Amino acid sequence: MDVLSSAKRALPWGRTSAGGVIGGLRALLGTDGGGGRSLLPSRWKSSQPQLDPVDRSDEEGGGDIDWDNLGFGLTPTDYMYVMRCTQEEGGFSRGELARYGNIELSPSSGVLNYGQGLFEGLKAYRRADGPGYTLFRPEENARRMQHGAGRMCMPSPSVEQFVHAVKQTVLANKRWVPPQGKGALYLRPLLIGSGAILGLAPAPEYTFMIYAAPVGTYFKEGMAAINLLVEEEIHRAMPGGTGGVKTISNYAPVLKAQMDARSKGFADVLYLDSVHKRYVEEASSCNLFVVKGGAVATPATAGTILPGVTRRSIIELARDSGYQVEERLVSIDDLISADEVFCTGTAVGVTPVSTITYQGTRYEFRTGEDTLSKKLYTTLTSIQMGLAEDKKGWTVAVD
Ligand SMILES: *Cc1c(COP(=O)(O)O)cnc(C)c1O
Repeated sequence: MDVLSSAKRALPWGRTSAGGVIGGLRALLGTDGGGGRSLLPSRWKSSQPQLDPVDRSDEEGGGDIDWDNLGFGLTPTDYMYVMRCTQEEGGFSRGELARYGNIELSPSSGVLNYGQGLFEGLKAYRRADGPGYTLFRPEENARRMQHGAGRMCMPSPSVEQFVHAVKQTVLANKRWVPPQGKGALYLRPLLIGSGAILGLAPAPEYTFMIYAAPVGTYFKEGMAAINLLVEEEIHRAMPGGTGGVKTISNYAPVLKAQMDARSKGFADVLYLDSVHKRYVEEASSCNLFVVKGGAVATPATAGTILPGVTRRSIIELARDSGYQVEERLVSIDDLISADEVFCTGTAVGVTPVSTITYQGTRYEFRTGEDTLSKKLYTTLTSIQMGLAEDKKGWTVAVD
């Protein structure tokens, strides 16, 4: 692999065996024993996180957690999964579970300096029809990470490695999976350039990690419809950019638009295309659908829109129930003249939009029981939680 061979030339690889402060001090004092082969003090190479002496994975119950008011906050759980891509093994070797906690990174790691990183997001549900847990299309997240890794010049875990790691993380943190109907265990895979590099180039070492947190609804509005603001100045993506991959570097640049909108009472922002400022793309972390009559449209993913797993699933479910679904350019006029608008994403599920404000005018849309978004929400969540038969083979059991 190109990334690996160029990285190999640039820096020695591998994780430190001694690690930690003592290893680092030895290296600084020149008592490393490594014969000075390393260009870096070993403390600036990533060390393995601590393994947990106490296995908590069979314990029941998530402490004093209030399952009814989860929201989307970060509740720390017991374990995380860590796997490194080392030179010796030419790719990702076997990963392992470690106690959830801080990791050590070089100040000159690729991710900290140049934003070489990707994330993913998926959920595990407690099964309704028996013991165990269910994941929703985790292979899709794995493939999306592989695609993003290509764009960001990173090696990536195989689909099998990714899905195995997700399952391990769920099982190790199973006491944190919320009861049926209260939410899900959100899993956050990360792929980062953890190796040290100074000149702009791919990092010489990569780390794949997964941590987990129990979550309820994403927006503070809960399941209620949200108000969105069309942003005209700040763009999240541009043609030729990275809007189509889940790179960490796409998100901090839109915090400003999001915070400004929140301070005015909006749940999120809708972004316009950066060339014409005429076509709607998506919100900060979810895709967009518009409904008019029997026709459904969603912006086509042509590099500036994140191809959501939920988006793809909703397109299929809407078609199955007889709707015509078009993936195309959706203009601001299409948007404001729609009957119904909704957002989709792993975190937000299917969230109805009650109003959209564009150039100072507020446009209203249909919400409530008799809407397509409500129908699709019910169909999707029933499959995800094991309440309805999964005819599509979308769910993956974790036992
Ligand atoms: C993650 C994400 C989505 C939703 O993708 P899902 O796979 O459905 O969770 C949509 N838009 C953006 C910008 C995202 O980061």
